[in-house]
Amino acid sequence: MTEVIDIGNLCTHCHNDTSFGSGRFVNRIPSETETESGYMCPECQPSEDEIDSNYEQALADSTGSK
Ligand SMILES: [Zn+2]
Repeated sequence: MTEVIDIGNLCTHCHNDTSFGSGRFVNRIPSETETESGYMCPECQPSEDEIDSNYEQALADSTGSK
């Protein structure tokens, strides 16, 4: 059985500090992976631009395959 480690203020993806004063505190979101429990810093969160382009790509794929 895998034990989830609480890494506190660290980002679960890049392990940057997201604590108050780090500059990442405001936009961090709670995050949990299979092994770690902590936060996700803004840099590791999918941006709206990325979501938009992925959506457009999916749209192009679905309409382009006849
Ligand atoms: Zn990160």
